[in-house]
Amino acid sequence: MLKRTGIPTDDDLEKVIPDEKRLAQGPVVIIECFQKIPCDPCAISCKLGAIKPFKDINDLPIVDFDKCTGCGTCISSCPGLAIFVIDENYSDEKSLIKLPHEMLPLPEKGEDVYALDRDGSILGKAKVVRVLKIKNKTNIISLEVPKSTAMKVRSIKVEGRK
Ligand code: SF4
Ligand code: SF4
Repeated sequence: MLKRTGIPTDDDLEKVIPDEKRLAQGPVVIIECFQKIPCDPCAISCKLGAIKPFKDINDLPIVDFDKCTGCGTCISSCPGLAIFVIDENYSDEKSLIKLPHEMLPLPEKGEDVYALDRDGSILGKAKVVRVLKIKNKTNIISLEVPKSTAMKVRSIKVEGRK
């Protein structure tokens, strides 16, 4: 499934999602990188050592969730747009997702956008709460989503744009 469609299965995701206890503690990274390719900027970008140093350039990232603060620095370093930060503690009803976004023009803070599943299907509307523009790297959008969709929303579409 993953090789054919590029969409991870529940089994794939189970290997990269922190356990309920860690999720309940606040912001934490989720790295949905499953293909062994020569690429390692994520591990280099994390100054807290939460992404273990690669022994080989083709290694897959391994996260020490106890070291991760959910800062999001690694998100903009990833050319595969495979890194997200989830904060399940954001509010009683909503989770916060930080996700990479390369399309222009960028949405604005406070704007409602379409929240998309991994396959590009629309899950609903969600509010942009922060837009972090990063020179020469991927921008980061922070999005409020219902808790029930926090493990599904992985990109956005700005209304009125393709
Ligand atoms: S979110 Fe921050 S602390 Fe966590 S892995 Fe990424 S860079 Fe490291
Ligand atoms: S930078 Fe992104 S694509 Fe490259 S190994 Fe890390 S997570 Fe995978």
